[in-house]
Amino acid sequence: CGIVGYVGWRGAQEVLVNGLRRLEYRGYDSAGVAVVDGTGGLEVHRAAGPLDNLVAVLPEEDVSGTTGMGHTRWATHGPPTDRNAHPHRDVTGKVAVVHNGIIENFAALRAELEAEGVELASDTDSEVAAHLVARAFGADPDAGLTAAVRAVVARLEGAFTLVFTHADRPDEIVAARRSSPLVVGVGQGEMFVASDVAAFIDHTRDAVELGQDQVVTLTADGAVVTDFHGETARTRPFHVDWDI
Ligand code: GLU
Repeated sequence: CGIVGYVGWRGAQEVLVNGLRRLEYRGYDSAGVAVVDGTGGLEVHRAAGPLDNLVAVLPEEDVSGTTGMGHTRWATHGPPTDRNAHPHRDVTGKVAVVHNGIIENFAALRAELEAEGVELASDTDSEVAAHLVARAFGADPDAGLTAAVRAVVARLEGAFTLVFTHADRPDEIVAARRSSPLVVGVGQGEMFVASDVAAFIDHTRDAVELGQDQVVTLTADGAVVTDFHGETARTRPFHVDWDI
């Protein structure tokens, strides 16, 4: 129901939790965060119920990672439990995804993965995206995470905002959207992505709205936006001059 992603210089955990608080008004039944720690580790924490349940299971000291993403879930596929809370990971634990919306062809994708021996860990429609991106990235790591995400989202049907991280790519996150909102926040040496500007308004008021079927790659220094085929895409920059 709400998404926030961050790449920059601050401790990501705190940025993400504060961003999720700003999105609470949208309603949700569980929450989670994933932080990439820069040494190949990916820390994921999730909890059903209010954000305070998540905060209670987070490490008190902010982990060192400055890249990550957070999610508040409004369950559509699978009950609102800890194991169905996002982020979801692939079997290696290196790829994490958060998703808002519905992946309508998830049953066919799930069957395809299960036929390859992948054991799914949740009841959600979302988890398939983590396994598919891990597989696509693993097949050709030099092509990059963005290429893997493009190849996967082109296969998805339905409405989605998706954000991916890979433990081997600690300096970037990749997000995609179709029929579901996604806004980039442009800071000084830090970048945000969210379902709503409210999630990053404490840090920047410079934003870029993504169009239909677009993919954005965020690093601390900027954002590159393409369509699902890799062609440079037109975006709409704007300034948030209203109060939230
Ligand atoms: N369909 C996904 C799920 O049930 C995402 C729901 C949402 O938009 O929060 O987990």
